[in-house]
Amino acid sequence: MQPRDLSAHSPYVPGRGVEEVARDLGMEPEELTKLSSNENPHGPSPAAVDVLREYAAQVHVYPKASHTDLTDRLATEWDLSPEQVWVSAGADGSLDYLSRAMLDPGDRVLVPDPGFSYYGMTARYHHGTVSSYPLPKADGFSQTADRIMEAYDGERIVYVTTPHNPTGSEMARAELVDLLGRVDDHTLVVCDEAYGEYSERESAATLLDEFDNLAVTRTFSKAYGLAGLRIGYALVPTAWADTYARVNTPFAANELACRAARAALDDDAHLEKTVETARWAREYMYDHLDAPTWESAGNFVLCDVGDASAVADASQRAGVIVRDCSSFGLPACLRVSTGTREGTKRAVEVLNRVAREVAEA
Ligand SMILES: *Cc1c(COP(=O)(O)O)cnc(C)c1O
Repeated sequence: MQPRDLSAHSPYVPGRGVEEVARDLGMEPEELTKLSSNENPHGPSPAAVDVLREYAAQVHVYPKASHTDLTDRLATEWDLSPEQVWVSAGADGSLDYLSRAMLDPGDRVLVPDPGFSYYGMTARYHHGTVSSYPLPKADGFSQTADRIMEAYDGERIVYVTTPHNPTGSEMARAELVDLLGRVDDHTLVVCDEAYGEYSERESAATLLDEFDNLAVTRTFSKAYGLAGLRIGYALVPTAWADTYARVNTPFAANELACRAARAALDDDAHLEKTVETARWAREYMYDHLDAPTWESAGNFVLCDVGDASAVADASQRAGVIVRDCSSFGLPACLRVSTGTREGTKRAVEVLNRVAREVAEA
């Protein structure tokens, strides 16, 4: 017995976990600075942690009221109707729901290259095919409607990531509006704002009143520090009404995640501290890394170190874990998540030293 032909499906390659790396190196996890997965260096919101403790004894019930409460809270937050809020297990879960809602077998999606690998993966899971539009390094990974429309060929979904992972570039609102006006009627533009909280720009969610061919995805994994709980959401057009009820996996967003997310939304102090630290760390890296960097609107900075794989390995042996971007098609680049002030300084010091050693070897 064999599964169906999955040769076109490539596995998702996550950054390695801190316990794994510590075991390999014979170190304690606390000795490592992990800046490879864009997690929140301040941890989760303390308000969310309190809620997790409080509700731990109630996980024998299915998440019903908690899910409705979170949906309503998000609808208020974004000034949308609850039907437009699709809560899911991580934003990745929302990408799956959008695939289910949009794709017939053989439909095509258009994704950025370099870009987040799950866009293509979810399309393939739903029997779709994938083409890409380039964001050239030589052009500073800039995102414009013209660039996307040059590659566009009537795909069913077009993905835009802003701020963009792994480069940190953004798509200006005017460019997005231009794109929304230029794609065919049957094309949905998905604006992935996984890092939206770190950006100074207005969310594309404010365009949902005006455009019925736009969906926006957001997550609690990054700025809210709840990656381990798997909770995110999509904001979708008004006219989709009961579509969510037809595509969502029953109870995929779990009880504790729904409750913790709601508490985190009310914890402004934690979010402010998180965003402020990321902004400080980005500037610190631009100023102190001995490698070219790109301006980033996310909680990470892309830098060009020449041989990313060698520098990432050496850095890891020295206790600083960063993301080698070879798998994104950027073999010269590292993506370094913004850490605490202390963690960021340590990372910069180690990266500068090991990059020098690699260059001299
Ligand atoms: C992290 C990330 C997501 C979603 O992550 P979840 O943990 O599934 O919420 C989505 N898009 C991009 C570009 C990301 O970097």
